[in-house]
Amino acid sequence: MVSERASRVKPSPTLAMDAKAKEMKARGVDVISFGVGEPDFDTPDNIKEAAIRAMKEGHTKYTPVGGIPQLKDAIAEKLQRDNGLSYRREEIIVSCGAKHSLYNIAQALFNPGDEVIIPAPYWVSYPAQVLLNDAEPVFVETREEEGFVLNPEQLKEAITERTKAVILNYPSNPTGLSYDRSSLEGIAEVLLRSKAYIISDEIYERLLYDGTEHLSIAALSEEVKARTLVVNGLSKSHAMTGWRIGYTAGPEEIIKAMTKIQSQSTSNPTSIAQWAAVEALRGPQDFVRTMVEEFDRRRVFLAEGLNAIDGVRCSVPKGAFYAFPNVSALFGRRRSGGEAVEDSSSLALYLLDEARVALVPGSAFGAEGYIRISYATSMENLRKGLERIKGAIERLS
Ligand code: PMP
Ligand code: GLU
Repeated sequence: MVSERASRVKPSPTLAMDAKAKEMKARGVDVISFGVGEPDFDTPDNIKEAAIRAMKEGHTKYTPVGGIPQLKDAIAEKLQRDNGLSYRREEIIVSCGAKHSLYNIAQALFNPGDEVIIPAPYWVSYPAQVLLNDAEPVFVETREEEGFVLNPEQLKEAITERTKAVILNYPSNPTGLSYDRSSLEGIAEVLLRSKAYIISDEIYERLLYDGTEHLSIAALSEEVKARTLVVNGLSKSHAMTGWRIGYTAGPEEIIKAMTKIQSQSTSNPTSIAQWAAVEALRGPQDFVRTMVEEFDRRRVFLAEGLNAIDGVRCSVPKGAFYAFPNVSALFGRRRSGGEAVEDSSSLALYLLDEARVALVPGSAFGAEGYIRISYATSMENLRKGLERIKGAIERLS
């Protein structure tokens, strides 16, 4: 009999959809996958070479639990250079992907009965990680008409004596939203009046378009910084999903607790991947620019294509690599067998069956009425996939 804790959560729906699409492909089904959020670019050669060098030089043993000093220093330089944030080595911990960073934070911070505020739509793993750590997720619904921006008034209403933290993610998965200075100031002002920590997931920071600049909430003031755990990683910025390197910067006391937990659970992240990460952070950055330019072309193409489908409404995403169209106008329409498409899950299933396109229903992100399409795939796949989606939707009656 598995633990009560294990039965509180379901497998990650984004990873489940990816596995399903891969399994269909392996069976020879011509499925187009818009499911998982993973850059379709290969990890740059200079990063791979740094890993090979590390192996040859014998960096194949345990490292300090929270990361090699060289990587901590490269992270500190990056936070200073890109975010204007100054952190010491003791205020940084490297973990096995940003997902692991977030999990360590949850382990280090949450007590039973604590409330954790999560603006919806949210990334799938936030509520699951809160539940796995005996705390309670409290959702604050944001609105499409307001660009899914978290409204400080609503945030204020959601805060109680038991609020331990708020999880912010910008640029956002799944909506692509990014926060400007004044929105962040509004949120910070409310939070500083409470005791809540800010968990700031900035993993999509480099993926911003139209000249939008990323600002970390921790950079607003020393007071805000003292309350914030900045989470970032290399999966998205340097196409390094498989290397599993993420990191957290924050107050020393919490980083120390996270390091203690990591020492008893996973130990250090892979030594070789850490050396590759040093190169990713310190080496040439042209790769990132090329990738962002390509994502930029795709997002405009995808949003236009989606808006041309009857019953689908999509704003052009500002960041990350997801489109999050509103598809609620399709609910109630019927498939050829007579069965109605009732919600985002049944629409996603219909599109998988009928159009052989894999995507994730909005319900997985706490936002019924939407679907998420990852455009971290080729222009050719986007073109084909859009045609298939359009055809399948037109066949609904
Ligand atoms: N945060 C968000 C919002 C994400 O979309 C992802 C993607 N998996 C992660 C964190 C975790 O990324 P990783 O564990 O690969 O660093
Ligand atoms: N973050 C990506 C996504 O949302 C990767 C999958 C995952 O880690 O859940 O698709």
